[in-house]
Amino acid sequence: MSSTQRHRIAIVGAGPRGTGVLERLLAHLGGREAADTVEIHVFDPFPAGAGRIWRGSQPPLLWMNSVAADVTMFTDDSTVVDGPVDPGPTLDEWVLGNIETLRLDPELTAELETFTSSSFASRTLQSRYLEWVFARTVTDAPIDVEVHRSAVVDIEDSQQGTQQQGTQQQGTQQLTLQDGSTLEVDVVLLAQGHPDALPSAAESYLHKFADSHELTYVGPGYTADLDPDVVPEAEPILVAGLGLAFVDWMVLLAESRGGVFSRNSDGDLTYTPSGREPLIYAGSRRGVPYHSKIGYDIAAARPPLPKYFTADAFPGDALLDFRRDIWPLAAKEVAGAHFHELFASHSDRTNGSWEDFDSRFAEVPWGSAASAALVEEFVPKDDDRIDLEQIDRPLAGEHYEGIDDATARIIGYIDADLARRADPRYSSDAAVFNALLSVYMTTGELLRRGRIPAESVATDIEGWLHSFFSFIASGPPPQRLEQLRALASCGIIRFLGPDTTFSADTTMGVFSAQSAAHEETVTARTLVDARLPVASIRASGDALLRSLHERGEIVEIRANERSAAKISVDGRSRILRSDGTSHDRRYAVGPWVAGHNWSSAFPRPRINAGFFRHNDALAIELLP
Ligand SMILES: Cc1cc2nc3c(=O)[nH]c(=O)nc-3n(C[C@H](O)[C@H](O)[C@H](O)COP(=O)(O)OP(=O)(O)OC[C@H]3O[C@@H](n4cnc5c(N)ncnc54)[C@H](O)[C@@H]3O)c2cc1C
Repeated sequence: MSSTQRHRIAIVGAGPRGTGVLERLLAHLGGREAADTVEIHVFDPFPAGAGRIWRGSQPPLLWMNSVAADVTMFTDDSTVVDGPVDPGPTLDEWVLGNIETLRLDPELTAELETFTSSSFASRTLQSRYLEWVFARTVTDAPIDVEVHRSAVVDIEDSQQGTQQQGTQQQGTQQLTLQDGSTLEVDVVLLAQGHPDALPSAAESYLHKFADSHELTYVGPGYTADLDPDVVPEAEPILVAGLGLAFVDWMVLLAESRGGVFSRNSDGDLTYTPSGREPLIYAGSRRGVPYHSKIGYDIAAARPPLPKYFTADAFPGDALLDFRRDIWPLAAKEVAGAHFHELFASHSDRTNGSWEDFDSRFAEVPWGSAASAALVEEFVPKDDDRIDLEQIDRPLAGEHYEGIDDATARIIGYIDADLARRADPRYSSDAAVFNALLSVYMTTGELLRRGRIPAESVATDIEGWLHSFFSFIASGPPPQRLEQLRALASCGIIRFLGPDTTFSADTTMGVFSAQSAAHEETVTARTLVDARLPVASIRASGDALLRSLHERGEIVEIRANERSAAKISVDGRSRILRSDGTSHDRRYAVGPWVAGHNWSSAFPRPRINAGFFRHNDALAIELLP
C-alpha cells in the first residue's frame, strides 16, 4: 500500500506522555488485521522515551519524588480501557529484574548498591527505564514507527485538504521540521509537556539589572537545563521558592559541590561542608518547604472515594463556580476522608460511632458552624481535627524577631513534618492524600464534561488547587527534607519566612529579600529563581507554539502574569482555536493543557490510572 493511502499519525513530543499514547496506539493496532494501513511518526529533539525532562545527561544526585514501586508506564489488571491491556514492569520491577546489567553502567553503580522498591530512583535511572519502555513499545509493534530526532517548528493546514473539504473539516496537516523539511500527516497529537517561556518583563528587568551591576541572576528553568556553576561559592545568595525546584537547587549547591551528609551518635543527619557552598537565604509565599512524602503504606488508609465530590453531584450542564459549587464539596470529601480514617484506625481518639458521625456529617455543609460543632462533639483533640486553610498557609499570621528566629521556627516545622509523615498514628494524612487524588479525578471529569469555565481552570484549578495539591501530596522524599534540616542546622541554609518578596535594590545595586513576618532585610549579589518556568504560549520558547498562537490556531489561557499559561482543548482533547471552534485533526495532551494537570504525574500501578484511560481514549481518536 502506498504511503499516501495510509492514515498518518504524528506525535510531537516523545516524553512519557507521547510514549504512553504511542503504546496505546500500538496496542489497538495489534488487534487489527490491516494495521499496516497506519503510519506513525514521532518527533522530539531529545531521546525518545525520556524526552527533555528525563534525559539521561543530568547531574547524578537528582532524584525522582516518587517511590520506584509507584511508577509504571504499563497498563495492568486494574486498567479499564477499550484497547487491549498489555502489562509490563513497574520501575522497581524493571530495575530489580535487570540489576546486573544496569550495574555495569558507571553512573548507576553506587545507586544500585542500596536500591529497593521503596527507593526514590535517580532521574538518570528513570531515564534508562523510559528509554527502554519506548524501545520495547516500538520493537513489539505491528508496524514501523519512524522517530525523527527534531523539533517540529510549524504545522499548517494543507491547502489541498481545505479546498476539498471546506472550512469546517480540515485537510491533512503539513509539519515543518527544524531543518526546513516538511511531512504531510492526517492527524497530529501535541504532547509537548512543559513549554518554557521567553523571559517575562520582570525577569528581563532582573537580568538587565544583574548585567549592569555585575550581579548574577538565574531565572526559572527546568533542572536538566540549568548550569549551577554560575552560582558563586562561599558568599550569600538569595533563593526564591521552596518547592521541588528548590530541592534540586539545594542538591546542586551543597552535596553536588562536595559536602558530605553523615549520622552523628544521636542518629541525627549532619552535613560537613566542602567550603564550596554558597550561604543560601531561602523564602517563599508559604515560607516552608512542601510536605514530606508519607513514609508508611498509604494504600491502607483508603476511604471509600469518591463519596461527596462526584461529577454526578452536579446535574445539568451549567457552568460551575469553583468557590461556590466545587470547593465546598471537594473540601468535604477531603475532610470526610480524614475522619473516616480517624474512626477506622484510631477510634480511641474519637467519641461515638462512625455511623452516627458519618450520617450527621453527610447532612451538614463543610465549613459551617454545624460541621464545627459536630467535629467538636466527636473528635475531642484539636490535633485530630482538620483545618484546610491552616494546612494551606501554616505560618499565616506569625511574626518573628528576624531571620534567626524564622529559621529556628521553620526547622521546628520541618522536624514536626518529618515526624508526623513517618508516624502511622497520623494515617488520616494518607487518607487526605488519597482524597486529594480523588478530587483531582473528579475535577478532570468535570472538565471533560465542559462544566468549568476556562478562566476558572486557570485561576482556581491550575492557579490554586494544583499548588495546594503539590504542597501536600507532591513533596520531596523525607530524606531530602532531613538533608534540608541538616543544611539549615549547620548554617548553609537560612529561612527568610512567609510572604517573602525579592527585589532589585537600585540604591545599593544588589538584590534584596524581605519577609512580611519580620523586619530584617537581607541583600546579596546573586538571586536564584528556584521555580519552574511560568509557561507561556504567546511568548513560548517553542517556535511551533508561537506560530500557532500568532495565527489564532491555539488559545492561551492564563489567570495573570504569574500563573502558567495553558492551551484550551475540548472534551475530546481537540485543540480549540481563538474563534472557539475545535480543530478536528489536532489534539493536545499533558501538563501544558488546561485541565490536564490532574494526570500529569507518572501513573501508579493498580489504581486504574487516568494516564492510561486518557491515552487510550486519545488513541481511539487518532486512529481511523
Ligand atoms: C523537573 C520535573 C520533575 C518531575 N518529577 C516528577 C516525579 O518525580 N514524579 C512524577 O510523577 N512526576 C514528575 N514530574 C511531572 C512531569 O510532568 C512528568 O513526569 C512528565 O515529564 C510529563 O511528561 P510529558 O511527556 O507530558 O512532558 P515532558 O516530559 O516535558 O515531554 C515533552 C517532550 O516534548 C518535546 N517537545 C516539546 N516541544 C516540541 C516540539 N516543538 N517538537 C518536538 N518535540 C517537542 C520535549 O523535548 C519533551 O521531550 C516532574 C516534572 C518536572 C518538570
